[in-house]
Amino acid sequence: MKSKKNHTIIDSVPLLDLKGQYMSIKDEIDAAMSRVVESQRFIMGPEVEALEEEIAEYCGARYAVGVSSGSDALIVSLMALGISSGDEVITSPFTFFATVGSILRLGASVTFADIDPVTFNIDPAQVERLITEKTKAVIPVHLYGQCADMDPLLKIAEESSVPMLEDAAQAIGARYRGRTAGTMGATGCFSFFPSKNLGAFGDAGMVTTNDKNLADRIRLLRNQGAETKYAHKVLGGNFRLDAIQAAVLRVKLRHLDSWSDKRRANAAFYTERLQDSGLVGTKIVTPSIVHENHVFNQYVIRAEDRDGLREFLGANGVGTEIYYHTPLHLQECVNDGRHKTGDLPVAEEACASVLALPIFPELSDAQKDYIVNTIEQYYSNSQA
Ligand SMILES: *Cc1c(COP(=O)(O)O)cnc(C)c1O
Repeated sequence: MKSKKNHTIIDSVPLLDLKGQYMSIKDEIDAAMSRVVESQRFIMGPEVEALEEEIAEYCGARYAVGVSSGSDALIVSLMALGISSGDEVITSPFTFFATVGSILRLGASVTFADIDPVTFNIDPAQVERLITEKTKAVIPVHLYGQCADMDPLLKIAEESSVPMLEDAAQAIGARYRGRTAGTMGATGCFSFFPSKNLGAFGDAGMVTTNDKNLADRIRLLRNQGAETKYAHKVLGGNFRLDAIQAAVLRVKLRHLDSWSDKRRANAAFYTERLQDSGLVGTKIVTPSIVHENHVFNQYVIRAEDRDGLREFLGANGVGTEIYYHTPLHLQECVNDGRHKTGDLPVAEEACASVLALPIFPELSDAQKDYIVNTIEQYYSNSQA
């Protein structure tokens, strides 16, 4: 939209605008895709290998292995560590389902550690208390694009010899005290689902690691456990990454830093404007940047009367989302009867108050203004 400042009338803002991003790099993307179509090499091959090298370099990891999704990145990581039934894995109850689904799919059981109320990430003190001899891994999630508090977690990992698997699905490029998401734990698990900061044109994912043995094992597992054609060494699966997705991702990776900068600028804009409005501290809590760099896959506020605000924003054309409205310990297929409401109070409270606002890089100032004004309008109406 060509905005002649103050003259563009905004009456709606989507949560995400993938089409806008595509149109801004259409020529590059179309050329990359037709390169793959012309080669007719769709499974693995040079595009996938090149993406693996580029992601490894981008993250500062020794190895990167392309896989079919973020969920599969988690599953193959757990498989490579030999996690199976009888094992326990500790993770957060406040994350996307796949973090927990991957553990349960392998027959292992999940132990939930509650989260920190400021960052929404797993609380290391809780993790420490929950470690037993059966604990075989911990999965911290870098939620919304900000790293979990890795130093105390890595200390626990070292003292208890329990590996950390980073669920970095929302956090590509995020940094923590000079290190990058996906390079601190045994593996880093990335998703290139279209709504992630680096989004494919379908499903795709990546595992990063500095451990050669793990990298080799994951390469084996993702391709039916076959070292050479039709010689199946271990029980793996089809967890491969498509060449066409790799080609799209290679183009987008070149733009990722500038997009992340724009996400951060959008976040700073909201936080400043919401503070100026007087709503912060009374009706709203804005996100805290505790660990640089936050890459803002989501900009999530806590809001008083969240559902009322969401409805009002929706009625005014503003797309929002609730990540997540049910904590995982209370999900039907997860709760084996061990869990009840009140067990993980910080996560449960977060589920009742969080709201994600549009944060995609291409947002205009006029669109952000419209959103902040609509929020202000809601709370001034509800006071009347
Ligand atoms: C998106 C996401 C996943 C799963 O990724 P898919 O590519 O959709 O399988 C896992 N964990 C978290 C935290 C995510 O946000």
